[in-house]
Amino acid sequence: MLIGIDLGTTNSLAACFQNGKAVIIPNRLGKNLTPSVVSVDEKGQILIGETAREYGYLHPERMARLFKRTMGTEKTYTLGELTFSPEELSAFVLRSLKEDASAYLQEEISEAIISVPAYFNDRQRRATARAGELAGLKVSRIINEPTASAIAYGVGESGSSECCMVLDLGGGTFDVTVLEYYRNIMEVYAVAGDNRLGGEDFTMVLTELFLAGCQIDAASLDLKTLSSVYKAAEACKCAFAQKPVSEMSVTIGSLIYEEEFSLSEYETACLGLLEKMRKPIEKALRDAKITLNDLDRIILVGGATRLPLIRSYIQRMTGIYPEYSVDPDTSVVEGAALSGAMKERNRDIQEVILTDVCPFTLGTEVHSFNSTFADDGRYLPIIERNTIIPVSRSQTVYTAYDDQEWVRVKVLQGESRIPANNLLIGEVNVEVPKGPRGQEAIEITYTYDVNSLLEVEVRVVSTGLQKKVIIQDEENRISEEEAQARLERLQYLKQNPREDEQNVFVLLKAERMYEEAGGSERSRIEEAAEAFERTMQTGTRLEIDKKRQELLDLLENLEKGSGQPMLS
Ligand code: AMP
Repeated sequence: MLIGIDLGTTNSLAACFQNGKAVIIPNRLGKNLTPSVVSVDEKGQILIGETAREYGYLHPERMARLFKRTMGTEKTYTLGELTFSPEELSAFVLRSLKEDASAYLQEEISEAIISVPAYFNDRQRRATARAGELAGLKVSRIINEPTASAIAYGVGESGSSECCMVLDLGGGTFDVTVLEYYRNIMEVYAVAGDNRLGGEDFTMVLTELFLAGCQIDAASLDLKTLSSVYKAAEACKCAFAQKPVSEMSVTIGSLIYEEEFSLSEYETACLGLLEKMRKPIEKALRDAKITLNDLDRIILVGGATRLPLIRSYIQRMTGIYPEYSVDPDTSVVEGAALSGAMKERNRDIQEVILTDVCPFTLGTEVHSFNSTFADDGRYLPIIERNTIIPVSRSQTVYTAYDDQEWVRVKVLQGESRIPANNLLIGEVNVEVPKGPRGQEAIEITYTYDVNSLLEVEVRVVSTGLQKKVIIQDEENRISEEEAQARLERLQYLKQNPREDEQNVFVLLKAERMYEEAGGSERSRIEEAAEAFERTMQTGTRLEIDKKRQELLDLLENLEKGSGQPMLS
């Protein structure tokens, strides 16, 4: 049987086609969403999804997330003693979804359609397909996420042509896609976006409002406390989908801090973020050479579009009532499952895929004008991710310290604000005349073409001295043997047994909540966790299930009571 998979940046999920419709497949914890998170515990065992995230709250250095952003790059993630590529981490998530689907459908799942962002280039698409193969899946198609969403919304069902804009506001990115359905063909006309805008920014606004309200300086908090404030903000934000006032409460040290926010107060604080959505929307329309009047529909997808203030902002801005009838978390996977069914019935919607974009940001490292050269540098993007190629862009930088003789231009690829976290793909050094800092201007020009060739030109403005290098994007193909070796390595790594998952998850959750709680709550958690652990050693399956449920109920009630998030 074939399943559809949405391999998301924050969460992933799977669906199949049953009784004429797309059906979401629950995971081993009975939930629809599997967080795209992988952890490695102290025993070297691989944890995936919610269990991995729960483990990561206490051991952030042993957890990887957001690895979809680096798909198709050389970036690696070291978790404990093990190192993985983004492809391998994705393979773990896919394997977990595959196992859950096989258990749910009571048959071996061997084939999948996996969705990717419309702006993914060929290399990123191949990396995604390879992750599927590493998970033991035959990937029969890679489908564009906005195309899948449009299919879930019934675009093309009537057979008449339709022009739509899909707005996807996920955890960390905002993607705008203009597509047209015409005679069984879905064509992507333009993609635009902002890879520094997402639901997480809206959570940060609440985190800051909370800390300011409680007069707490963020810099005085340790990583664990900050992460529990962030978690409470996340829950507070999500509650706005149901009510116009939302509360937040966090225990810091021995004190409980509480704040209450109204939707309008929150909306005002978010105005800057909301305004950031305008530019990519306008750019996509411009690139597609259409205006708002040509659009038949606007479709909202991505978890963050549940925020009422985002829906109303889009409507105010475009004058079009946006559609959000399908669950924003599930529209992509439903579309992927539907497209699988259509394919099998030969009523397939064909896609025209747009891949001629630069898939990553290319930039360099610079130092603040008034800093010492020894200071940590800052990343200066020159060609932003998703720019349509071929493209040529220049930036002028200046000497950083007095009597500087050489300027070293590091060619970096990646999305991190911290240069060291990006990939160093080349370097150009030029000699500059000595003088006070800031006197010499150096013009850096990056030209990226459709063959993934990057030409870097560095010119010293005063002397006209010029240096040029060409950097070839290494083809990321791997040999058959290497693919086999990787497959074996992943299989060899021990994954937490599926049937134990609920027990491990609940105990990790108890451990984290014990650390976060105080006083009587602590003893209640401890008591229930110990009772559960004792039953695990001596009890029957039924008794274990009962005690686990008791512990889970207690934890969830405590979370509800304290305004802490439910881990749904
Ligand atoms: P996605 O990447 O599409 O799964 O979206 C994840 C983002 O959706 C995260 O930033 C979540 O905080 C956000 N999100 C999920 N549910 C809600 C909700 N009820 N209200 C506001 N934001 C939400």
